[in-house]
Amino acid sequence: MPDADGDAADPVAADVIDPYDLDADELAALLDGLGEPSYRATQVMEWLDRGVDDPHEMTNLPLGLRDRLAASFGPTRPRLVAHTVADGGRTHKLLLEYRDGVAIETVLMLYPDRATVCISTQAGCAMGCPFCATGQAGFRRQLTTGEVVRQVIVAHAVLASGQLSAAVDVQAEAGESTFDLPDGHPDRVTNVVFMGMGEPLANVPATLGTIDWLHDRLGLSARNITVSTVGLVPAIRRLAGHGKPVTLAVSLHASDDALRDDLVPPNRQHPLATVEAAMEHYRATTNRRVSIEWCLIGDVNDSDQQARGLAAIARRTRSHVNVIPMNPTPGVQWEEPSRAAVRRFMDTLERAGANATLRDTRGRDADAACGQLLASYTLGEGRRLPVAVGAAERVDARREPDAPDAPAEPGGAS
Ligand code: SAH
Ligand code: SF4
Repeated sequence: MPDADGDAADPVAADVIDPYDLDADELAALLDGLGEPSYRATQVMEWLDRGVDDPHEMTNLPLGLRDRLAASFGPTRPRLVAHTVADGGRTHKLLLEYRDGVAIETVLMLYPDRATVCISTQAGCAMGCPFCATGQAGFRRQLTTGEVVRQVIVAHAVLASGQLSAAVDVQAEAGESTFDLPDGHPDRVTNVVFMGMGEPLANVPATLGTIDWLHDRLGLSARNITVSTVGLVPAIRRLAGHGKPVTLAVSLHASDDALRDDLVPPNRQHPLATVEAAMEHYRATTNRRVSIEWCLIGDVNDSDQQARGLAAIARRTRSHVNVIPMNPTPGVQWEEPSRAAVRRFMDTLERAGANATLRDTRGRDADAACGQLLASYTLGEGRRLPVAVGAAERVDARREPDAPDAPAEPGGAS
């Protein structure tokens, strides 16, 4: 288990170097150690940032150096094991598997004016939120910076060429690695949200390392990067002090400690008053408005009282509220709220003076809520995956001996 601040990094394979794990200084030191002049590090970095990780394809390097680099950089590409498409080709959900067999989800969402990639920071999650498929499945391990950055590289490859084979190994039975993308969207990643699997602030080294890479090397502005957290207070303060004012989204889901202790178990260590103070600190330090995420669950957190409590917190912290109706998850008995309940909740928020938006859930038909593609893949449930034909049989063979037959009941994961 990671500690609350996520300092317990858990590198995957000490025997190989993932080039995306190296920052500029480390890359320079590696090339220096190979007796190369400093401009070679810049050349290698430019290839990596364009998504080329195979030294044999780095055509401006001498042949001997390409061979020596190939010996240093291990086989660290993830494999594409499943791909679902929704929203008429505008949402692509990828299940990527790393060398040790852990799989994570990355989602690419296309809009006319932006291309957003939703990335995972952990394989699984230890936080145990009972409405979340990832929370039900438990924690596998931390992702390294290279593994998180790689997800953005993969999205880039899709956007630039509609082809994935340059960025991932496509498993034999997966068939195609080409994407039919609709017309009219940017040809590069413009926005990154840390809203995939895992709790980014329980893996601070990889989260900060990825923010640095996105900002310094990909050239994304901090305002186009969003980190979503359950509210791990010390880590919010570290993020505030990092000097890159990314958008902070706090997954609140309840406006009193009694309910939040159940819906967001880390609330027991970091109660609402301390989360609120951390949000206030973040806003004051970075001058950025904080967002509040509220997953609306039928008859659980959709009452007038919860709406008024939420509005009060939003007003005090000057935050913007995003309300997202719960995406039904296999094994979770709770349901999405009725349309009438959603309307009433939004009205109550507005009357109580909150700044709030109702968000649509992208990619419902692609198992797009956090952890759901992995859940249907590993449990062999739900829709057949269009790319990973034969996945269910393969996964059965790999199933962990102690894996549950079905996700835990709501409330049972904490
Ligand atoms: N661990 C972080 C980021 C990943 S989860 C966090 O919890 O903030 C990203 C968002 O997905 C969170 O706001 C989470 O509450 C939401 N989420 C999880 N399961 C969901 C579901 N079944 N329906 C709708 N939103 C869900
Ligand atoms: Fe983890 Fe976020 Fe899911 Fe909670 S909602 S279990 S913190 S991924």
